Amino acid sequence: MPEDAPRNDSAIESIIEGKKMEAYAEHRTKDMHCCALCGNIGYRKRPMRPVGSKWICIDCLRALKEVLEGLDQWEAEIQLEKEMSKKIDESLRT
Ligand SMILES: [Zn+2]
Repeated sequence: MPEDAPRNDSAIESIIEGKKMEAYAEHRTKDMHCCALCGNIGYRKRPMRPVGSKWICIDCLRALKEVLEGLDQWEAEIQLEKEMSKKIDESLRT
């Protein structure tokens, strides 16, 4: 069946291509890291940095930076809330 021959060849070729891709992906895995916060896989298009023993992607680091920048205000708010609830408790007791 000569008509089938080229199709079989291309099938084998695509299997070989698949194996090549697998090997390539495995090779690339060394450069890949999973973001500890969002679970995304980082690679060239998604820069990542190691934080301690974890890797964190640029998106999460940006979000973290925002949180850290607002940390002082947040802590002040928490402190204020604590004082307020303490005052309420005191006023309820008396
Ligand atoms: Zn992330």
